[in-house]
Amino acid sequence: MTALDQFTYPPEAPLDCDRCPRLVEYLNDCRAKEPDWFNAPVPSFGPEDAELLIVGLAPGVTGANRTARPFTGDYAGDLLYATLEKFDFSNGKYDSRPDDGLELKNAMITNAVRCVPPQNKPIGAEITNCRPFLISRMNNLPNLKVILALGKIAHDSTVKTLGGKLAAHKFAHAAEHSFQYNDREITLVDSYHCSRYNTNTGKLTTEMFENVFSLIANQLDK
Ligand code: SF4
Repeated sequence: MTALDQFTYPPEAPLDCDRCPRLVEYLNDCRAKEPDWFNAPVPSFGPEDAELLIVGLAPGVTGANRTARPFTGDYAGDLLYATLEKFDFSNGKYDSRPDDGLELKNAMITNAVRCVPPQNKPIGAEITNCRPFLISRMNNLPNLKVILALGKIAHDSTVKTLGGKLAAHKFAHAAEHSFQYNDREITLVDSYHCSRYNTNTGKLTTEMFENVFSLIANQLDK
């Protein structure tokens, strides 16, 4: 794929995207088992004038893959949406379902990989295949200033999207990385993923996650 091709991609993947055969097969299995679930590339959630873009890994099979809204209906969403509310990035109450009336303010949530992967583990080719949609998503946020990467895969894909070198921008919790991107200054902030495993093991505490959002608030206030 050339750089020019990337600009022909829409910010949201088509529901019948077939670029990743393994994920298409997995989605077909999910459709057979759970025909009432969404079972398709999950679109981003949030307003197009957002200054903050949150990049997760991929939809959870019983979370966003079921409900069609990122981080909705699984454990990781509880901490993420509670923190978004605390830092005034949302209106309404998160209630684990896409019709809870929740709206995001100045923030959008997307995923590095838009289709649910088996065992929550996309392979390298799938991350690469889906990156044009992440590039297009970023290019279609005219006010974008800060990107929050949840976990190393989201961090790495975002650094590549921004044209940076991974050796110069290593993932670390609460690290901040500066980029010049399309004549704009973008700050990438890293956090451990707010997964059940990370929070249950204490790798990520609520305080640590809120500290990351304090960094984001400071960047947006600049
Ligand atoms: S992960 Fe992305 S590129 Fe791969 S099939 Fe799904 S939407 Fe398409």
